[in-house]
Amino acid sequence: MSEPIHDGGCLCGAVRYRAVGEPLWVAHCHCESCRKGSGAAMLTWVGLLQDQFTWTAGAPVRFESSPGVRRAFCAACGTPLTYEAVRIADEVHVTAGTLDDPASAPPTLHVWWEERLSWLHTDDGLPKFAKRARGADPVA
Ligand SMILES: [Zn+2]
Ligand SMILES: [Zn+2]
Repeated sequence: MSEPIHDGGCLCGAVRYRAVGEPLWVAHCHCESCRKGSGAAMLTWVGLLQDQFTWTAGAPVRFESSPGVRRAFCAACGTPLTYEAVRIADEVHVTAGTLDDPASAPPTLHVWWEERLSWLHTDDGLPKFAKRARGADPVA
């Protein structure tokens, strides 16, 4: 049985990556850091284990957006690419919009729902978590 392969990269093409296997989850994040870091109303992340993920071209630069949290982006075009945190060191989260085929990784939940923009509405039926999903119950 062959594992699914998700290739992706930044807007200018300088930085490329490959993810192998099924994602752990795909989450729309409504937190203010993701909003600021992407310039978008929300940011959709593909959750992977570190050993599912490799950079295949170029090298991103990293910014520490909170203590213990590093966000990687392309230095040439600014595309946000990954999120890594010390508290979940075995995971890497990849921006779904940078996949070559984002439709291949449909979202499964919303996180940081309490920070969502008031004009953003959805009836997608996915579970919505006030903050992180881990160990929490959905609020909607
Ligand atoms: Zn780029
Ligand atoms: Zn976020």
